[in-house]
Amino acid sequence: MSNEIKKLPEIITPSNKEVIIIGEVDNGEVKPVTIELLGAGRDLANKLSGILSCTLCGFNLGDLPKKLISYGADIVYVADDPLLKNYQTLTYRRVLIDFLSGFTLPPHIVLLGSTTTGRDLAPRLAAYFETGLTADCTELDIGPYEHTNKMDPEKVGLYPGCLYAIRPSFGESLKARILGPWKNPQMATVRPGIMLPLQIDNNRKGEIKKLSVNLHPEDYRSELIEVVHKINKSVNLAEADVIVSGGFGLGRAEGFELIKELADCFENSATGASRKVVDTGWIPYQYQIGQTGKTVRPKVYIACGISGAIQHRVGMSKSGLIIAINKDPDAPVFKFAHHGIVGDLYQIIPELIKQFKSNKLQLIKKEEEKLIA
Ligand SMILES: Cc1cc2nc3c(=O)[nH]c(=O)nc-3n(C[C@H](O)[C@H](O)[C@H](O)COP(=O)(O)OP(=O)(O)OC[C@H]3O[C@@H](n4cnc5c(N)ncnc54)[C@H](O)[C@@H]3O)c2cc1C
Repeated sequence: MSNEIKKLPEIITPSNKEVIIIGEVDNGEVKPVTIELLGAGRDLANKLSGILSCTLCGFNLGDLPKKLISYGADIVYVADDPLLKNYQTLTYRRVLIDFLSGFTLPPHIVLLGSTTTGRDLAPRLAAYFETGLTADCTELDIGPYEHTNKMDPEKVGLYPGCLYAIRPSFGESLKARILGPWKNPQMATVRPGIMLPLQIDNNRKGEIKKLSVNLHPEDYRSELIEVVHKINKSVNLAEADVIVSGGFGLGRAEGFELIKELADCFENSATGASRKVVDTGWIPYQYQIGQTGKTVRPKVYIACGISGAIQHRVGMSKSGLIIAINKDPDAPVFKFAHHGIVGDLYQIIPELIKQFKSNKLQLIKKEEEKLIA
């Protein structure tokens, strides 16, 4: 008997090798998650030797499509129409389904942000195209998949160019790599604040293509009453360079005054929180960082009285510099913080504020400035 290992037949799932980002606009600006997805999408498109494109739906989009080219898109597909001024599920769904159906070969990959809009649209698109969708990814890659399951003989083979949609699972203790090689487009939503955007390059060249907007009467089954842009303007966690977060170690709701005072020592800063303090009612949910809250990637993250549970860590571990203040030297947060201060936060934070205000804390400040630059 020969010991030769039989090579699996290569199976190419039909696609046009295009990676498409479904872009989002908020209040006249491209959402940061769209720029982040262009960074991730560029890498995937290069690995596929394909092209990267982005859709943009809205009204009076002006120069926004050009901005997407500067951030890595080869083609921007634009649906600019008064009827698309505000996001509505059925109108946007219609435009995107018409667009995605228009290719002779389907796009290889379609990515959306794990935002309210992305989470609303993605399953509708995936269901329409009867394709797989992985939600809330934190990593993406391209690679081969060997399907050897003899129970499924017609599918046995080597599938190159699979989207590796990677996301935490089992309470964020494991990373699951989820594949859907049978059909393109392969789809995923990606958490905001995770992927790295490309450097802006205003000399980059790309194409802008107009999409036709053919809405049907049944697309207007809902009426938009009001658009509320931000619940609380002071919470700007996604864009803050420095985030100071408070945990249950604060002991009381008033402790957040101190957290805010420390945050105010920095330019472009914001305050965050752990889930335990949100659940206790000390601070509203929109401040929560972690698995069931926001994912952030500031230049500096200062965790005060936070134990560093895995569910909190997944929301902030990609921060540039992590500083932890905790009275327990064995707190898990010290295992991943870059700098740790062991002690009572009610003694340490006022001293830090005093030092920052009198500008004596040059060391940390310089380090922080270096990271912000
Ligand atoms: C499905 C699921 C999803 C979750 N999602 C999230 C999420 O999105 N975000 C999140 O944060 N958590 C989340 N959690 C909860 C998470 O597991 C932790 O319970 C939570 O993060 C703990 O919050 P904490 O660190 O503030 O509180 P604790 O774990 O109680 O830690 C308080 C820390 O403060 C320290 N401390 C106490 N007093 C002082 C003092 N005076 N000075 C200095 N230090 C002091 C203590 O030593 C301790 O380390 C989730 C849990 C589950 C099961």
